[in-house]
Amino acid sequence: MIPSGHLLLPSPLEKIIHPVAEDKGIELLVKRDDLIHPEISGNKYRKLHYNLAQAELLKKETVLTFGGAFSNHIAATASACALAGIKSTGIIRGEEADLENPTLKRARENGMIIHPITRERYDQKEEPLFHEELREQFGNIYIIPEGGKNYYGVNGCIEILQEVKEEFDLVCCAVGTGTTISGLSIALNEQQRIIGFPAIKGGEYLLEEVKSLLHWSLFDKEWVESIVKKISLQCDFHFGGFAKSNPELMEFISDFESITGIPLDKVYTGKMMFGLMEMIRNGSIAGGTRILIYHSGGLQGN
Ligand SMILES: *Cc1c(COP(=O)(O)O)cnc(C)c1O
Repeated sequence: MIPSGHLLLPSPLEKIIHPVAEDKGIELLVKRDDLIHPEISGNKYRKLHYNLAQAELLKKETVLTFGGAFSNHIAATASACALAGIKSTGIIRGEEADLENPTLKRARENGMIIHPITRERYDQKEEPLFHEELREQFGNIYIIPEGGKNYYGVNGCIEILQEVKEEFDLVCCAVGTGTTISGLSIALNEQQRIIGFPAIKGGEYLLEEVKSLLHWSLFDKEWVESIVKKISLQCDFHFGGFAKSNPELMEFISDFESITGIPLDKVYTGKMMFGLMEMIRNGSIAGGTRILIYHSGGLQGN
């Protein structure tokens, strides 16, 4: 476990004033999971929490996981394992990955063994046979899927809204693997809705991913259907694809920080906030709505 003295939990909830929302009588609350820890920020903490508990329970020597060369999940896993006193190994996509880039350099400083592999091999990351080979090579390992996308990851994300006592009608979050939005959506009441903003191009397929994550977690078709009805994905705010950006997005992020004091990252939360402000401006969100914005962190990537 990560010693709790290192973590800011429950994470702060902050009411912000933004002219775009003020005009429409829309209330904005930000759940600041970016403040939980400088390196184990946001939803990565949530997704690692029960996975690390399980690794310890099973007396695993090493946590092994997968990610790209700039992955927030790799950064968070390295740091969390260092604090929890368990070894970590990162399988990195692409043999050409630069071990000196800030993310991988810091991960190595946190004791992570960095192991770059070819993209073809990386594509096998969910194959049982590949996992067998990894176990032979690395020994007594606990494997966490890329992005912390498993049952324990979803479970950790359920706790985000359990910490919120204030009332709200709508949740907004960024979407990568769909793990976070799955956990958030399980914790909604009958009236509440959630909008997810995929950080990749063509993110429409992610609703199916969310459905299967919900099925694995809940194993109840009716329950899953009732949850899926509360979810919508806004797939038009990807800015060209994963980790792509443009001057308009960068300017928005910088303006948003000047107005509210809240920093955003350009891969996930910047795109979500841009999309949300656009929806408020063009009237897609009803006046008077109380919105809970989930700040999933990601600032290590900036
Ligand atoms: C990883 C990440 C996400 C994506 O979360 P998923 O659970 O994979 O959908 C969103 N925001 C930030 C800041 C992230 O680092």
